[in-house]
Amino acid sequence: MSRAFNFCAGPATLPEPVLKQARDEMLDWRGTGMSVMEMSHRSDEFVAIAETAEKDLRELAGISDDYAVLFMQGGASSQFSTIPLNLLGDKTTADYVNTGIWSKKAIAEAKRYGDVNVVASSEDSGFTTVPEQSTWSTNADAAYLHYTPNETIGGLEFDFTPDSGDVPLVADMSSTMLSRPVDVSRYGLIYAGAQKNIGPSGLVVVIIRKDLLGKARKETPTMMNYQVIADNGSMYNTPATYSWYLAGLVFKWLKAQGGVKAMGEINYRKAKKLYDFIDANDFYANPIEPRFRSWMNVPFTLADDALNDDFLKGADARGLLNLKGHRSVGGMRASIYNAMPEAGVDALIQYMTEFAKERG
Ligand SMILES: *Cc1c(COP(=O)(O)O)cnc(C)c1O
Repeated sequence: MSRAFNFCAGPATLPEPVLKQARDEMLDWRGTGMSVMEMSHRSDEFVAIAETAEKDLRELAGISDDYAVLFMQGGASSQFSTIPLNLLGDKTTADYVNTGIWSKKAIAEAKRYGDVNVVASSEDSGFTTVPEQSTWSTNADAAYLHYTPNETIGGLEFDFTPDSGDVPLVADMSSTMLSRPVDVSRYGLIYAGAQKNIGPSGLVVVIIRKDLLGKARKETPTMMNYQVIADNGSMYNTPATYSWYLAGLVFKWLKAQGGVKAMGEINYRKAKKLYDFIDANDFYANPIEPRFRSWMNVPFTLADDALNDDFLKGADARGLLNLKGHRSVGGMRASIYNAMPEAGVDALIQYMTEFAKERG
């Protein structure tokens, strides 16, 4: 089979030019006679790869010197505990917004370390909307305010940046990082598991305002201490070198596409096309309030759930892969991250049109 369109939510499709470059450099990275995978992380070559990746990410996302950029391990989920351990400091409470499954996981983990104040929740609506900020019961003395800008499973995305006043704003951008412009200066900390828009799973990128370093509780594991990781250039231990390298290739690819502004325009267009099609076709439905529909993850249901398996079988046969919705939500989900070409969305719509005509 030639390369398919892979709509997996994560690990997700990577840009084809990135994979080809990795292939070409696999055995012998630029005349070194070895693969990046085999290099010492202390070597001049790898240090240059690592620094270039950070520099390109800073440029792409507009990250100033007021922030440290960390390349950590353990995925986004490890940050659910790393964040309270580091940021609670001498405070006892943190504010969390609950907009879906990833929010809930972050909340459950934070509760192990302090008092969590859920300032707003859209659970009553089945997580189909984002509560208006005017209704949030925030606490001016909270250590930080955590939210999930894009709920990957529900397909719910904030269309605004919360105003957290002097309380540091913390965001799980795992599935929206680099998909559109973001004003980093509004945030105290941004984190993103790599396997959606950045690179291979396991790696997690953390962008932290430097004044928030150095507050970790003393029982914090060394490997989870942001100050230690920052002081050691994310090489306190052996970092995920190959993932870091691949992330660097993705950043170069993003720059060649015109950066996050250009990506945002393409992503908006891709998502709009798919939602417009779903809305115009009685056979398909998406439950999310239109304003908050995710640009990255598009869940949809068929008019008759009994047709789900046939739909997926037909999609597979055409090379449209991994469209099954999350087990907790059911139905379908098309994840259309940066690396999903517009042609993939077109092919999906074409298939959906034919399926609805034949079976609807
Ligand atoms: C995928 C995802 C996670 C979990 O990432 P892991 O790397 O598997 O821990 C957390 N939050 C969001 C929003 C995600 O999309």
